[in-house]
Amino acid sequence: MQFDKEIFDLIEQEFARQQHGLELIASENFTSEQIMRAMGNVMTNKYAEGYPGKRYYGGCEVVDKSEQLAIDRAKQIFNVDFANVQPHSGAQANAALMLAILKPGDKILGLDLSMGGHLTHGSSVNFSGKLYQPFFYGVKKEDGLVDYDMMEKVALEEKPKLIICGASAYSRDWDYARIRNIADQVNAFVLCDMSHPAGLIAKGLLSSPFEHCHFVTSTTHKTLRGPRGGIILMKTDFENPMGIKGPKGETRMMSDLLNLAVFPGTQGGPLEHVIAAKAVAFFEILQPDFDLYAQQILANAKSLETAFKKRDYDIVSGGTDNHLLLIDLRNKNISGKKAENTLVKADITINKNMVPYDDKSPFITSGIRLGVPALTTRGLKEGDMEHIANWIDTILMDAENEQTTIRVKGEINEFMLAFQLYPGWKI
Ligand SMILES: *Cc1c(COP(=O)(O)O)cnc(C)c1O
Repeated sequence: MQFDKEIFDLIEQEFARQQHGLELIASENFTSEQIMRAMGNVMTNKYAEGYPGKRYYGGCEVVDKSEQLAIDRAKQIFNVDFANVQPHSGAQANAALMLAILKPGDKILGLDLSMGGHLTHGSSVNFSGKLYQPFFYGVKKEDGLVDYDMMEKVALEEKPKLIICGASAYSRDWDYARIRNIADQVNAFVLCDMSHPAGLIAKGLLSSPFEHCHFVTSTTHKTLRGPRGGIILMKTDFENPMGIKGPKGETRMMSDLLNLAVFPGTQGGPLEHVIAAKAVAFFEILQPDFDLYAQQILANAKSLETAFKKRDYDIVSGGTDNHLLLIDLRNKNISGKKAENTLVKADITINKNMVPYDDKSPFITSGIRLGVPALTTRGLKEGDMEHIANWIDTILMDAENEQTTIRVKGEINEFMLAFQLYPGWKI
């Protein structure tokens, strides 16, 4: 077989880009070498529709064991009774969850995308806003915190079947007890989509959603630092209150409905190689090292917050409880788009982001979102956050000056040499 030089050259270029730059995209991280090894292996050759012990194909004895390990470890991390590790992504996990408990046209209530929510929480361009009838709550204008009064008001008026909490650009913890109280008043389910802070929740550094939320979904590649993928979790299984029956007329347990909604509901064959890599990631999370990692994320985020405040940057909600910061650039006279485009030229990767009550479009935006999980994996500590804020500020305050960008890029590339991404791999 001929070697595909074109693609493998591009993979090397991407490795070089990751090695040299400052990765501040809040949803990204760097997996370990063993996770990557587990992802690229013979399990990609295997069809295994179904679940461990109940497959539609022969020869699943081995992948049954590795999928079961992934399930058991996920349950152990979060101390829950149910885990489905098959969703190909966070969006797929949410699609399956909604398919399991909703009918087309049912009402859902989530955080507005422009206030930090996610596409799959009811956006009109996403299945969640097309198949279901979406309503939204926001954050308060005065303090940037989730507006639980608004959530309650909309819930009482619209009586949604599902209330979704969790976000993509929200730097504060959540009041899950309050949300459950609101949901109970209107007989709604609560889904916590902990895709972003899952790694911090795993180590008890943020409130746990499991006692109060019927369902929890997550990606596995953000703060969980695993392969790209999704999971669905449930603290305790329960009989579905929708009255959905099984083939023998028996009432279906919710765990059954969730498994059926993933396969055959929304997916075919599971990615057993990625599931093996999820199992490795869960193994890593169970080690004491990951406690230190999660604590370091919080320490770094706090230091970055302090460093930006010192330079008079306006942080939405006034700071952070988790791994990310949302910065409103309106007092700095630069748009999110311009900031993103200028920073990337200095090998600083961030993303432009709407801020609450933004007067600019989603393509321009007034803000940027910065997260520290990836740089924390690289080994950066609190003291390094001062350099980062300084570099970013230098560029943003002199965005038209190419010389400044080039100088800062040189400093960053040199700085990152001390933090080898995969030591021993050659670029
Ligand atoms: C990232 C994210 C997702 C989607 O994950 P994908 O793997 O990109 O599909 C879902 N929900 C939230 C809150 C997220 O932040």
